[in-house]
Amino acid sequence: MPALPARRVPEPDRWVAYVDMDAFYVSCELTSRPDLAGRPVIVGPDPARGPTRGVVLSASYEARAFGVRSAQPAALAARLCPEAVWLPADFPRYEAMAESVRAGLRRRSPRVVALSIDEAAVDCPASDAAGAERFAREIQAALRAELGLPSSIGVATHRTVAKIASDRAKPGGVVVVPPDAIAAFLAPLPVGAIPGVGPKTRAVLESIGVATVGALAEAPTSALRARLGGFGEELRRLARGRPAPEVEVEHGPRSRSAARTLPADSADRSELDRDVTELAVGLAGSLAHEHLRYQTVTLAVRWTDFERVQKSRSLPAAQSGPQALSTTAARLLDELLAAEAGGRRRAVRALSVGAERLVREGARQRRLDEFGAGTALTVK
Ligand SMILES: [Mg+2]
Repeated sequence: MPALPARRVPEPDRWVAYVDMDAFYVSCELTSRPDLAGRPVIVGPDPARGPTRGVVLSASYEARAFGVRSAQPAALAARLCPEAVWLPADFPRYEAMAESVRAGLRRRSPRVVALSIDEAAVDCPASDAAGAERFAREIQAALRAELGLPSSIGVATHRTVAKIASDRAKPGGVVVVPPDAIAAFLAPLPVGAIPGVGPKTRAVLESIGVATVGALAEAPTSALRARLGGFGEELRRLARGRPAPEVEVEHGPRSRSAARTLPADSADRSELDRDVTELAVGLAGSLAHEHLRYQTVTLAVRWTDFERVQKSRSLPAAQSGPQALSTTAARLLDELLAAEAGGRRRAVRALSVGAERLVREGARQRRLDEFGAGTALTVK
């Protein structure tokens, strides 16, 4: 029999549901405080308990109606919405509920990739838009019925498009973008709606007259390539409705990270520590879901002038869970801030916690298996 052609043809109809939990921390709290449903609720440090430089971690949609946003300074949120009910953050609880969400998704889909504490890309067991939408509505209803948690879901044949659609589905909706509708769906959106396009890239695009994805689709390739390199070309492909196929990592990922741009540039140590802890907790949850352990921790800081520095530390053995990740990242932050204190003393604009040298749980068993008959293991 002749060999099959080696060339890989991308499957056009692999539908992805991008699940993004609505006001996740607040929604977790409401499961035990139904009396607060329908009221403006904020998870974060209550400014009424004393002056705080902390930020809003999550706000109910009722609070958002007052202009409250996550990552906003708590003091500002309190002024915008004096009647808000403030609840202190309970990260272990949110992580446990996030694991329940992932478990619920895994029961329904052959493949679930957790991308943050409250976001996951879920393969749809469906072959067309109607089937994918039905599946998305089923999992949305199941998360609501089984866990009491609301979500928004974007459905598309490409993960990035599905993620953007999930933003448009908020709160509580499902937005489906078939492949031939991608360009038209994206065209009116600001370029910042594309994941990975932050303030810096946005400024670069605006400097060549590109503010919307539609304008991005029409921008000259040469200008995009000159200013943004390969990323510029990727963006243009996406804008034209033909995003590059997703790269599937077959042999395990090399790294994972969680990043956050601060609501305002900050040099406040306790604020930065809290950000690092939250990023580490979220990242550890994603790693645990993927059954990955980490051996190197990276902390990256973008200073107020956009310069980026990073520092890594290898651990003596592969770790799992948030503890080693957050303590190591906090130590690296210490070192970066100490170096900066002797120099330009810049404030921090954005933070990223990364995990590298990832090892799959179970890799050890596989290696044991390879030793074969000599290993006298009894499997019950
Ligand atoms: Mg969310």
